[in-house]
Amino acid sequence: MYENVQLFIAGRWREGSDGASLPVVNPADERVIGQVSVATIADLDEAAEASWRGFKAWSKVSAFERSKILRKAADLLRERADEIGRLMTLEHGKTLFESRFETVLGADIIDWYAEEGKRAYGRIIPARLTGVRQMVIKQPVGPVAAFTPWNFPINQAVRKIAGALAAGCSIVLKGPEETPRSCAELVRAFVDAGVPGDAVNLVYGVPAEISSHLIPHPLIRKITFTGSTAVGKQLASLAGAHMKRITMELGGHAPVVVMDDADVPNAVTALRTSKYRNNGQVCVSPTRFLIQDGVYDRFVATFVEQTKQIKVGNGLEEDIDVGALANDRRLSAMEVLIADATARGGKVATGGRRIGNSGFFFEPTVLTDVPTDARIMNEEPFGPVIIANRFGHIEDAIAEANRLPYGLAAYAYTRSAKSIDILSEAFESGMVSVNQQGLALPETPFGGVKDSGYGSEGGSEALEPFLNTKFVSQIGA
Ligand code: NAD
Repeated sequence: MYENVQLFIAGRWREGSDGASLPVVNPADERVIGQVSVATIADLDEAAEASWRGFKAWSKVSAFERSKILRKAADLLRERADEIGRLMTLEHGKTLFESRFETVLGADIIDWYAEEGKRAYGRIIPARLTGVRQMVIKQPVGPVAAFTPWNFPINQAVRKIAGALAAGCSIVLKGPEETPRSCAELVRAFVDAGVPGDAVNLVYGVPAEISSHLIPHPLIRKITFTGSTAVGKQLASLAGAHMKRITMELGGHAPVVVMDDADVPNAVTALRTSKYRNNGQVCVSPTRFLIQDGVYDRFVATFVEQTKQIKVGNGLEEDIDVGALANDRRLSAMEVLIADATARGGKVATGGRRIGNSGFFFEPTVLTDVPTDARIMNEEPFGPVIIANRFGHIEDAIAEANRLPYGLAAYAYTRSAKSIDILSEAFESGMVSVNQQGLALPETPFGGVKDSGYGSEGGSEALEPFLNTKFVSQIGA
């Protein structure tokens, strides 16, 4: 059922040129379910050269024609969502519902870009001299090297592939080695829809080897990465040294401010669903809950009660709310961060332990009274844990929310229009959601500030990173 995953280079599915591969593990039982091919340097060169040819051909296809092909890819993804969802659950651990939802949302993202690609408008600037025409035109930047992680094997990759292709660029994608099959199925949908084989290339292998070869590669014109801040900084500095355009979608540590006047039942329900989605392995996951004194006890008691009802298990089974963590690194990170927090005086209100000893299952966890110097208050936990701390005055909540170098998402729950204004304005983050968890739709901007990166991967802003601006001043002959 789970076939080995190959590279897709120059229009051909094939193994790496030296035949090397890496194992793919099912996080629910730790068994090896297949292999993913590893690209050599020669394979990377071939992919970069193909992407240059692909760019030359694809950029000449009209925006309307490109749009039709992308929309066909979206339809194929929808048609195949059940099958792809199953493969994703096998390699990632998330529930079938989540895997299928991610696939279908991926199709919506393609549709969005397919339409936006028709709107790469330039403009005419009135000239100072009679007979002069001043035009601003938008052109695709060229071949893109993209690097995407394992937490959303389709969703992270689709924003980059669809954005590049809609703008008329080609792409070499380094997909996630731990969850390669669903990402490969995404690429297959584009190819089956009619994107020329050279325009979309897929490689896997040793991440540092691939990025250090592709980023400086003279045929690659744009770099886009989603992953940790630490790796993002390395890649951004390499890209800077070679003057490549960059988009960085990095880590977060989202604060949630719950004011005394919040609708507590609504806040608990919305935040609980949002927190444990994808087992908390989400860059915009709500993490540092800052709850005002007056509602603290009620909020925590209700949140803990609802958290205890969550069913954790094999994502392939029915009636499971949360599956396995995607890899053993997340499991040990949870154990280490929670042990550190409790050693410093934090309390475990529920959860806090691994479930069983086979598969990467971890209890949905609520920590309270965690001191600021605890590691989990400073490092992105990227797992099923919330920190519930209290505050007195709104200014204290804002100071804590903005304390970290991260600046991706921030959330607020309050019935006061004044507090909504103050918090929306004050959060140092790329995205704010108030009284709901309303982020990451195809049509809305998605991206961070500070150490969470730069550039947007949603909304009408999302095409811009794949376009160059050219000014043409002309006078008739
Ligand atoms: P990691 O930092 O080793 O890897 C993160 C991602 O970057 C992976 O996809 C990996 O393949 C890739 N990567 C690593 N080194 C690379 C390199 N030199 N060149 C190109 N790509 C490289 O960590 P991890 O254990 O896989 O994930 C842990 C942390 O990463 C999480 O705690 C979280 O902070 C962050 N993360 C963020 C996102 C996101 O959506 N922003 C997604 C996944 C992971």
